[in-house]
Amino acid sequence: MQKGNGTCVHPGIALGRVYVPQTIPSVLPCAKGGPDAEKAHLHHALHTAKKQLSQLMGRTKAAVGEKDAQIFDVQLLMLEDDSFLSGIHTLIENGKSAAEAAKEAGEAFAAQFAALDDAYMKERLADVLDLSRRLVRILCRARPQPFPDEPCIVAAQDLTPSDTVRMPRERILALVTCGGSVNSHTAILARTLGIPALVGADLPLDGLAGREMLVDSESGSYWIDPDEATKKEILAKRQLAQEKHRELLAYKDRPAVTKGGRRVCVYANIGFPEDARAALEQGAEGVGLMRSEFLYLGREKAPEEDELFCAYRAVAECMQGRRVIIRTLDAGADKALPYLGLEKEENPALGLRGVRVCLADEALFRTQLRAVYRASCYGDVWMMFPMIASVWEVRQARKICRQVRGELLLEGISCPDIPLGIMIETPAAALISAELAHEADFFSVGTNDLTQYTLAADRQNAALGRYADAHHPAVFRLLEMIAENAHRAHIPVGICGALGGDFSVTERLIQMGFDELSAAPGCILQLKKMICESEEVPV
Ligand code: PEP
Ligand code: MG
Repeated sequence: MQKGNGTCVHPGIALGRVYVPQTIPSVLPCAKGGPDAEKAHLHHALHTAKKQLSQLMGRTKAAVGEKDAQIFDVQLLMLEDDSFLSGIHTLIENGKSAAEAAKEAGEAFAAQFAALDDAYMKERLADVLDLSRRLVRILCRARPQPFPDEPCIVAAQDLTPSDTVRMPRERILALVTCGGSVNSHTAILARTLGIPALVGADLPLDGLAGREMLVDSESGSYWIDPDEATKKEILAKRQLAQEKHRELLAYKDRPAVTKGGRRVCVYANIGFPEDARAALEQGAEGVGLMRSEFLYLGREKAPEEDELFCAYRAVAECMQGRRVIIRTLDAGADKALPYLGLEKEENPALGLRGVRVCLADEALFRTQLRAVYRASCYGDVWMMFPMIASVWEVRQARKICRQVRGELLLEGISCPDIPLGIMIETPAAALISAELAHEADFFSVGTNDLTQYTLAADRQNAALGRYADAHHPAVFRLLEMIAENAHRAHIPVGICGALGGDFSVTERLIQMGFDELSAAPGCILQLKKMICESEEVPV
């Protein structure tokens, strides 16, 4: 038995045989006919790779959408990248076969990307490796392993849309990847489908295919060839979790109302339109936070109005009249969008981020606003602005909204006058929440950023541990103030940061008067249960 660790992206327990999708032969052919012959093989492989990628791009567009298909654009560009190609040629001239050279150049290129202090380039690392493995497979005439007939655990260096669109999703028990981050495709897929998943795992991929694996992603652990005692212990844990989940399903269609009769809505946080279905299956009464920036991340340029409109409309339609709160683009800091061409900042978390980016790039903002307004005809759509610190920002953002809606009406496109709210996630916004409550139609508290800024503790820095404590009395005093000021002005107030799904404070938040809690779909049933069991009486 061999035990290893990774970072949990979605909790759950799975036991099954391992399928490794992108295997390349462990022994590659040596150079046979000299550098010219190897270069000719390479030329042929590049041509074949180009054809395969173009086909995959078409298929992915149809199956998943335009955004994910763009990954192939990146790989097609890499196929023509001079430094990548010259790296392979140099290795061939030094006596390597085309397959060896493609593998080594890919790894060297990926190592360069990994060393860069740029989140976007780090995400491209998987594309470089994917492309170099494709070339090696073509050169060795190796076929990707077919997906087994039995459900299995997928283990990989990393997964790209080209891997995922080919996989029968109902047969994936768990995903474990060496690479990946919370924004990686593995994470996105796992979240959408509710599949247990680990990223950043220390996986020994060689010889792993076909072996038995046990994954307990919540504890961040996996076991290869687990012994009977470990299987028994972890599977008993799964059974308990399944029984608990079955009991919780009684709350799926039940509105969350306290024993005293107070309604506290339970909404879902989502990143992609596809997440809306999973949210509904978990009993979500609405979407409390659609993180629009996921539609902008990992691509070469900002999405067009129609693409955004389709994404928002899909969510509104899927939620069938339930509330959908769309957050306008929250770019900047850890969510860098290189194509916006923003200056590199010393302190990005204190820099041009959230609504500041949108007010600085009005064209970008207007495109998104048009899409939201157009989609608002298809459901109960509300819109909110992130990272507000001052009254003037709200006034400015609302003014642009009024103009955009006016333009749409003049174009003959009907769109309702939707509620426009703000996120309270800076101490400044919390402290002037009495004033802000007269400028906004609702509040939603982003406790992740509110904690970071109140305690001066970078949310990205895992080493800060106790310093970044969302339960700190300072954070709770601000929460009380926000709820009180919202209610004094008769506007609804919710929480969409991680505290919204933190069961250890749910009762306290209900008592404080929050009207809505929004959390990851997996938290919703438990939240509904806790609200229904709360003794809270109407205020
Ligand atoms: C928050 O800050 O709590 C929040 C919900 O926004 P994000 O986590 O996307 O910054
Ligand atoms: Mg935030």
